[in-house]
Amino acid sequence: MTSLTFYGGVKEIGGNKILLEDNDTKIFLDFGTSFKRRSLFFEEYLTPRSSNGIGDFLTMGLIPDIPGVYREDLLKHMGRKPEEPEISGVFLSHAHADHANYVSFLHKDIPIYCGETCKLVLEAVEEQSQRNIENEVINFRPRPLRRGDYKKPPTKRVFRTFRTGDKIVVDSLEIIPVHVDHSVPGSYGFIIHTSKGTIVYTGDLRNHGPHASMTQDFIEMAEESKPIAMITEGTRIQHGNTDESEKKIYNESKREIQQCRDTSIVDFNFKDVDRFKTFYQIAREVDRKMVISFKHVCFLEKYYQDKKLDVPSSKDENILLLKPKRLTGTYIDSDYTEKYIQKRLDYPNIITAEEIAKKPKKYMVVLNFYSFNTLVDLNPKKGIYIHSLSEPFNEEMEISYERMHNWLKHFNLKFVQSHCSGHISGSDLKKMIKTIKPKQLYPIHTEHPGVFRKLPTKTRVVREEKKYKL
Ligand SMILES: [Zn+2]
Ligand SMILES: [Zn+2]
Repeated sequence: MTSLTFYGGVKEIGGNKILLEDNDTKIFLDFGTSFKRRSLFFEEYLTPRSSNGIGDFLTMGLIPDIPGVYREDLLKHMGRKPEEPEISGVFLSHAHADHANYVSFLHKDIPIYCGETCKLVLEAVEEQSQRNIENEVINFRPRPLRRGDYKKPPTKRVFRTFRTGDKIVVDSLEIIPVHVDHSVPGSYGFIIHTSKGTIVYTGDLRNHGPHASMTQDFIEMAEESKPIAMITEGTRIQHGNTDESEKKIYNESKREIQQCRDTSIVDFNFKDVDRFKTFYQIAREVDRKMVISFKHVCFLEKYYQDKKLDVPSSKDENILLLKPKRLTGTYIDSDYTEKYIQKRLDYPNIITAEEIAKKPKKYMVVLNFYSFNTLVDLNPKKGIYIHSLSEPFNEEMEISYERMHNWLKHFNLKFVQSHCSGHISGSDLKKMIKTIKPKQLYPIHTEHPGVFRKLPTKTRVVREEKKYKL
């Protein structure tokens, strides 16, 4: 018997957790955070408690209650007996939190399969994020039940990395990862040979990005595999084609920064290596130094390890690291308690906001909204702020967006929106489905799965936790 059960990504964008069973073999495709569901109950100051193991997550339905999946320490912590793992592996399509982060809850002996670059991104995330139960993706410190247990060393998960074209055999399954273009490097779709036929899973992908040929490779291989089922992302099923592209961002942003005689600030997601390269190139061409944060540098140094990504070193002469203000506010070494900052305090290319404020037109500062208090020290008189991120798509984001605009107005910064989506457009998606010709379609990672019913392909509008036999 071969079946699919969806424990996330159903009528929501992300949170994918797909159980594939083939006779006695069970694997998960992705195991991500469902932000929408989490926000039904939790917010900034009301969070699931680590002190209850995974109890808060299970009770509030943030993760499915299934046997043989979760960490022994977390089960024990909520008063349950530990379980032997029943899952042979979790295959991560890419390193975005909505696909990867809830790996933190998994039994340590369940191997995580992911792309080599995906692992590097996860390492960067781990290095610079505050350790909490929801993002212990690579290492985790077992929850102590007694005081003396606190000194236990961290546990490392088993990671098995792959590259495009590898064939991974897990019991009765053969899984072939194929690279796709998405807004984070190391993204893959999967072609999975089961005892009932082939299943393809798109992960997240797009056809209008700088590496569209990788998505084409996936589409071709998926078509050749004559799949009996296709699990597809459908984030933008309702969007038609637009003229968005990385090149367009480059042109728009370069023009703006060239015209700017004062402070220039840009904001983008550092997981997107293409976006980093776009702004790095612009900075060099307009003769400004690119200023990044100590968090960003964790990503840059990981990307540097992958020669294919072709990024500059973190000590490149065109890159500067912005020293954040902590404790005494005087930038002395002892102000910094975070390891990722401490280990880099001797870098030759560190700068402070006050130094930038003296000659703002020499720099292009990468600054996220959550670090906007730095604007007080940068003290811009005039300038631009390029928002190279998606526009707000929920109420909480709208509120932050309004606040962001207040800051910009206060410092006389012109707002420029310039972005290109990580997700395939509706028209490209329909074309892709037509080319691959699966016998059955399972749209997920979308709020509008019903729209797929209008397509000529037989579509299953997925219900959560229902087992679909193939
Ligand atoms: Zn996603
Ligand atoms: Zn994604």
